Amino acid sequence: MLIVVVLFATVLLRAGIVIVVVYLILPATRVCPRCASDLSLIRHPVLRHLVPSVEHRWCLTCGWSGIVRRTPQLPTTQSRVINRAARS
Ligand SMILES: [Zn+2]
Repeated sequence: MLIVVVLFATVLLRAGIVIVVVYLILPATRVCPRCASDLSLIRHPVLRHLVPSVEHRWCLTCGWSGIVRRTPQLPTTQSRVINRAARS
C-alpha cells in the first residue's frame, strides 16, 4: 500500500510541476505578441470558473488568439470584451 501512495504522490508532483511551468510560460500581457496591438478579451464561463488566473484573448488586427495570464485591469485603458455566447 505504501508503494501506491508513493507512486501516486510522484504523479501528483509531476502534474503540479507541469502546471506551474505552463503557467509561467504563458505571456502576462494585454498586447499582441505578433503586432503589439491591444488584445480583446473573449469570455469563457467554464474557463473562468476552472482556471480563473488565465484568460483567452484575441487580436483584432492580426487574428492571433491565445491564452494569457490575467493581469490587473488598468483604469485608463478600455478593454474590448467579446462575449463568446453572443457570437454563436
Ligand atoms: Zn496582433
